[in-house]
Amino acid sequence: MATEPVPQRRTDIGPPHYDQFLHPLIKRNYGKWKHHEALKPGVLVHTAESGEAIYTVRAASARLLSTDFIKWVCDMADKYADGYLRFTSRNNIEFLLANKENIDPLIKDLNARGVPVGGTHNSISGVVHTQGWIHCHTSATDASGLAKTIMDELDEYFSSHKLPQRVKIAVACCLNMCGAVHCSDIAILGIHRKPPYVNHANLKNLCEIPTTVAACPTAAIRPVTVDGKASVEVDREKCMYCGNCYTTCPAMPLADADNDGVSIWVGGKVANARTRPMFSKLAIPYLPNNPPRWPEVTEAVKKIVDVYAANAKPWERIGEWIERISWPKFFEITGLPFTRYHIDDFRGANKTYRTTTHMKF
Ligand code: SF4
Ligand code: SF4
Repeated sequence: MATEPVPQRRTDIGPPHYDQFLHPLIKRNYGKWKHHEALKPGVLVHTAESGEAIYTVRAASARLLSTDFIKWVCDMADKYADGYLRFTSRNNIEFLLANKENIDPLIKDLNARGVPVGGTHNSISGVVHTQGWIHCHTSATDASGLAKTIMDELDEYFSSHKLPQRVKIAVACCLNMCGAVHCSDIAILGIHRKPPYVNHANLKNLCEIPTTVAACPTAAIRPVTVDGKASVEVDREKCMYCGNCYTTCPAMPLADADNDGVSIWVGGKVANARTRPMFSKLAIPYLPNNPPRWPEVTEAVKKIVDVYAANAKPWERIGEWIERISWPKFFEITGLPFTRYHIDDFRGANKTYRTTTHMKF
């Protein structure tokens, strides 16, 4: 029996331990912080019990970045922050400064390159988003393009603290929602509006039929024979246009230039401060895909934020504000129409969840 301890294994699996990358000032004061405050929009100071302070300058960033831009950001970190920076979960860049004198020169250089500084406290943080047309085969819209145009429109709320409370915006390019749209204050969700097209001639060559049938969460896919060939058909009443079948079977494409578009949801949050966490609810069922600037979507999001900014009480998140004034009042003062699409009448799920391979109870 071995008596010596097993030497620590070194592998290349997973990220290296974070403490290798902590700023020396943070390492010295780890776990011994006294308080923090916002000096101005985009600038925070954390003060330790020892009296040392570290300054954070938060800048906007896209989620898809060129290597040139990343190199430039690293140069800025070397110049002003001893080489230390981090990316937040909402894609903001945070430079960590030990020297207070470097704050304004850094902001000047960031602004000169067109990079806004902000996203702290009662502001809109960076937009978290999914992959969009660039990377994902089931996308109904382009997440990164939408995030860019929305943030251009809402820049005044990123670079100031004039909102009643913080506002989190997320974009997901289909209802599988890889981005946290269900729990963001404003959620922009790409939607398909038609069931997948079935290419019967190719399906048998490209897809495994049992796997394709099992891929559907609402049991909308059935095996059939078409012109003597094994294939599948889709029950339109049960299909929720999720695109899962296309992931499994390339002969069932879902993208449709004329019918795909964007829906907008409001009122989600993760925080349990003041009120419980909330799921977002449908505000606008459909807006057209209109790249590259999506004017209908940016106008609608701006309107919701403007009305919230003018009417909410201090510290109310969007969901809390709507719950207080009521949903009918929300539709009334934003001028958004309440339609039959706001009523959730999808019955298929209730019956079919029990019969798929995914859920058994
Ligand atoms: S939200 Fe949908 S389309 Fe977008 S990346 Fe995720 S699975 Fe793909
Ligand atoms: S997997 Fe989704 S898109 Fe495909 S048939 Fe089922 S519900 Fe419709």
